[in-house]
Amino acid sequence: MRKLSANYIFPASSPPIKNGILILDNNGKVKDLIDPGSDAGKSENIEVFNGILVPGFVNTHTHLELSHLKGKIPAGTGLPRFIHEIRRLRENDETIIRDAAATGISEMERNGIVAAGDISNTNICFPLKVNGKIKFHTFVEVFGLIPKEAKEKIKNGLKLLTLIKEKFSHPASLSPHAPYSVSRELLTEISTCIKNNPAPVTFHNQECMEEIEMFSFNTGKLKSTLEKTGLDMTKWKSPGKSSLLWMLSNLPGETKILPVHNTYTPVKDIETASKYEPHVYWTICPGANLYIEKRIPDIYTLLLYTDNITIGTDSLASNHTLSVLNELITLHKHFPDITLEKLINWGTLNGAKALNLDKETGSFETGKKPGVNLVYQLDLQNMKLTKDTKVKPLM
Ligand SMILES: [Zn+2]
Repeated sequence: MRKLSANYIFPASSPPIKNGILILDNNGKVKDLIDPGSDAGKSENIEVFNGILVPGFVNTHTHLELSHLKGKIPAGTGLPRFIHEIRRLRENDETIIRDAAATGISEMERNGIVAAGDISNTNICFPLKVNGKIKFHTFVEVFGLIPKEAKEKIKNGLKLLTLIKEKFSHPASLSPHAPYSVSRELLTEISTCIKNNPAPVTFHNQECMEEIEMFSFNTGKLKSTLEKTGLDMTKWKSPGKSSLLWMLSNLPGETKILPVHNTYTPVKDIETASKYEPHVYWTICPGANLYIEKRIPDIYTLLLYTDNITIGTDSLASNHTLSVLNELITLHKHFPDITLEKLINWGTLNGAKALNLDKETGSFETGKKPGVNLVYQLDLQNMKLTKDTKVKPLM
């Protein structure tokens, strides 16, 4: 049994406790969370830390398969160029891809991440995601704009899905890559699969202005980039609504939906989409947004409608590290009025709920085995994360 205490404990499921004591059994399961004033709080063998204790972090959006592209794509070039570079560079030797992904997993573990939603386009990283410290939900990503190829695309996606679920006994679901990279026919096929086997679904959303342009006016640099990759875009027509609302109206309403990035989501879309809650979990990846587009979503505006927010690191192709804490530090720097409690909740419990992994992870609730992180070198007086704030997993 371990008894851990710090300046504050942030359970995520309830308000922070000053000098609280977290009691865990030998397997790391939460037994109790107590007030320092209680009789139990006067017991001995308490390990006391300087900083705050928070549950293990949950990273709701990453692509381990792209870890080998770390530092290969220049920052600040915008999404259309980034997509072009990814398509040009992503093919590589399987051993190189797998080794880089393994390094990515170790980095996440060091940064206190205990659960993650990982996008897979191939089976290369499947063996890495089982039996490790991190619990994964794999999103098997499908895309294709040619309507008559929808059946073939879904067949390939289902093959990968069956492999990871049956051979690796691992939670997984199909997900469309983005509104601009799936045909209506393919989206319908994906929706049917999700309806038959309910599970969280994710997609890249409104990451660049060119996506807004493409859905509003049938034109723009994103469309021409897709054309240059060899896709026949002549028959592509805007569905007559924004990309986000088109996706939400075509995906099953009863499942968890994680739109990722949302960098350019207009207020009217946020307002309409918030009506789909509690199923919509807005996934924010500030590090990748700054890397690719040099911009991050306006969280203050988002907060007017929702705080169903989760945190993703995206891949090492578009970020310098795989650390939920670093993403929270970036958010706190740009939006200092957000409370630390909210940020911690986004990086822990909200992510666990979005991925359906909250039975075990996300909060210090009795019976869960959420991992424990010491977050230190923060500004405790003002309850702010700073550029020097660090994390150390204690379990
Ligand atoms: Zn992504």
